[in-house]
Amino acid sequence: MVTGEAQNQALRPLKDRLAILSDVRAASAVLGWDQQTYMPPGGVAARAEQLATLGRLAHEMLVSDETGTLLDAAGDPDPGSEDAAIVRLARRDYERATKLPARLVAETSRASSLAQPAWEESRAASDWSLFAPHLEKILELQRETAGYLGYEDHPYDALLDLYEPQAKTAWLHGVFEELRAALVPMIREISALPDEDRSRPLYGSYDEAEQERFGREVISAFGYDWTRGRQDRAVHPFCTVFGGPGDVRITTRFDPGWLSPALFATFHEAGHATYEQNVDPSYARTPLAGGVSMGVHESQSRLWENLVGRSRAFWSFYYPGLQKTFPETLGAVNPEAFYRAINEVRPSEIRVEADELTYNLHILLRFELELDLLEGNLSASELPAAWNARMEEYLGVTPENDAKGVLQDVHWAAGLFGYFPTYTIGNVLAVQLYEAAVEAHPDIPEEIGRGEFGALRGWLRENVHRHGSRYDPDELIERATGRPPDATPYLSYLKAKFGDLYGL
Ligand code: ZN
Repeated sequence: MVTGEAQNQALRPLKDRLAILSDVRAASAVLGWDQQTYMPPGGVAARAEQLATLGRLAHEMLVSDETGTLLDAAGDPDPGSEDAAIVRLARRDYERATKLPARLVAETSRASSLAQPAWEESRAASDWSLFAPHLEKILELQRETAGYLGYEDHPYDALLDLYEPQAKTAWLHGVFEELRAALVPMIREISALPDEDRSRPLYGSYDEAEQERFGREVISAFGYDWTRGRQDRAVHPFCTVFGGPGDVRITTRFDPGWLSPALFATFHEAGHATYEQNVDPSYARTPLAGGVSMGVHESQSRLWENLVGRSRAFWSFYYPGLQKTFPETLGAVNPEAFYRAINEVRPSEIRVEADELTYNLHILLRFELELDLLEGNLSASELPAAWNARMEEYLGVTPENDAKGVLQDVHWAAGLFGYFPTYTIGNVLAVQLYEAAVEAHPDIPEEIGRGEFGALRGWLRENVHRHGSRYDPDELIERATGRPPDATPYLSYLKAKFGDLYGL
């Protein structure tokens, strides 16, 4: 084994190359951010070329013989060290990219660029037959991709691993089974209660500038650092980062007639952003920079959005200010009515509008259908009927048409199979992490009731954020909470919260 100092020197050329790769990817991210915020429509064609060029340069750099040689020369640094993590992640990135034949990569990218306009057309006409052949093609390529990437138990593992390293289909089956068994009866019980239209106060006149000011005040208190970020408007809210914690931007959208979208999207994206802003700055331009997986990332956004932002404690502090900001719409709404409004359970056909309780069943349905499609138990032409049957079974809802059903999400057209479950993984991990934070600092709930978030933020920074991608998700969660990822705390949380809200 080489000593630390000698090893640092041996890794220098590899690290230099990875830093350049990080720069190219960061430049793509800046262009992508601009495309969704300020770029005029006339920029579309040139921007597509620029992004394709940078994407190709990054890919060529990654799969080049030189990268392979530098990885071989890197050897095996001290196990557990940051260098070992850098080599492990770079090797994984390199192997994934080199395992896939160039022909398959090109076909996949071509198939999804053809599928996306077809999906849009299909959705506009609510005519599944326009999209079905594209989905068949994408599925065939996804199966092939899984084969090349390799897996032990299930081809889905290979795809899932792209978004949630080391997560397994078998584990997800167990988690979803627990959720299904507990949530389907709860949702039935709630749906059978008289409709009180609890969310009515959230609709009305909500001045955009005031919504923006209020959102900024809250996320500043959460700890979002404006000297290393900014907030702009975009059709689909997102958070983006450019190679390190120095520039982490968020976007949101406003509806002047509906309070919820901007308010909760702002909390959500700020949750993603505080994760990125608190990664160890020395990890910038290395594979350790940035959140470790989609699921862990989503745990941070949902922790701030739901566990903090939809809690009684939080609104006991912030509601008077919100009421003063919008006296016409909220003046006569008492704090408890507002709390019930933002936590209304209403099964609906649309995932992105779903409440905390029904949301996971939208994901369960997509997970099961993805498995059936990938295994060949279901063909693309049979998908709409299978979709509607499961919507009815899990949520008691039948979509009005395919546009509002099976065609609502762009993910499959974009070739993203194995991605949906990371939303539920995020929900599960959010509660597990929050409970571990409260165990370490029992005063966190009272602090939230005073509009203070220092203890929670500090615990998350110390146990999750600063590590960036150094540990795989399971190891990170086990280090932070003392246990592997586990859905039990999440289920107890849902039962307690919604049992109380609906008197179950
Ligand atoms: Zn998110």
